[in-house]
Amino acid sequence: APRTVLISGCSSGIGLELAVQLAHDPKKRYQVVATMRDLGKKETLEAAAGEALGQTLTVAQLDVCSDESVAQCLSCIQGEVDVLVNNAGMGLVGPLEGLSLAAMQNVFDTNFFGAVRLVKAVLPGMKRRRQGHIVVISSVMGLQGVIFNDVYAASKFALEGFFESLAIQLLQFNIFISLVEPGPVVTEFEGKLLAQVSTAEFPGTDPETLHYFRDLYLPASRELFRSVGQSPQDVVQAIVNVISSARPPLRRQTNIRYSPLIMLKTVDSSGSLYVRTTHRLLFRCPRLLNLGLQCLSCGCLPTRVRPR
Ligand code: NAD
Repeated sequence: APRTVLISGCSSGIGLELAVQLAHDPKKRYQVVATMRDLGKKETLEAAAGEALGQTLTVAQLDVCSDESVAQCLSCIQGEVDVLVNNAGMGLVGPLEGLSLAAMQNVFDTNFFGAVRLVKAVLPGMKRRRQGHIVVISSVMGLQGVIFNDVYAASKFALEGFFESLAIQLLQFNIFISLVEPGPVVTEFEGKLLAQVSTAEFPGTDPETLHYFRDLYLPASRELFRSVGQSPQDVVQAIVNVISSARPPLRRQTNIRYSPLIMLKTVDSSGSLYVRTTHRLLFRCPRLLNLGLQCLSCGCLPTRVRPR
């Protein structure tokens, strides 16, 4: 029988692409429940699903921030969820002083508690049947902090800690957990962030910090998306591999060009190599804007972390 896969946040980006790919699986291994907060946005997904719509793919309403919505969605699914993909998420960038606590809490409500809420709802069924797979779209920012992404990174770190802890218990129930960790992905995600930023005034932020944010960070970030950004299709291929794996990994990075940066944390457990290196990349290295992460192989880094 096909496995029922429930995915959150399918109106755009990675969620939409994943839903469509799984629904078109040549071996018909999946029955996809593609969910979104606002069904008014379902046209793009339905068009991309084509003849899979109503066959291997159904669309359902689900707001990960609402208990009622989650209960309502799960009650409509006949049978149980075999694979849960926690994909819904949002970003937040900017100097901390200029961001409201309410905006920060909204990020945690969506990225962290949204996933927790769904897991709580599907876990009893998975435990009873002693099978299941929970996939979480984390980020490389779940592994390393990034300047001006303090709260977003914190929400992804929270997911990493939560699901690594849960994985230990769930191994006993034959339930797998996989954290997928993409670098930049070219979706609406970045555009939404830039739109937020272009109108935000970040009240209470000093001019020096604002200058670093607007004139150093934003251009570098745009360049990073342009130079090493992956397509949603690339990321989805990695997620499909994880879902179809007999022994799914706990962690799966999708962008090999990030490995050197991540390694800095393992190489030096004090953490200062990572902090100093990324500080240097942004504030000191003139080649960053042109070369993105290739900068890791130029002369601006300490020799011992340069790839050979
Ligand atoms: P996206 O903005 O296209 O997709 C995010 C989706 O989540 C949207 O469809 C949005 O409507 C939905 N969503 C937000 N709040 C919701 C809620 N309360 N209930 C239900 N749905 C909600 O961007 P994307 O790049 O496809 O992002 C998908 C996931 O990938 C996110 O968790 C994001 O953090 C993660 N990610 C993205 C990138 C990137 O650079 N784009 C990198 C690493 C990780």
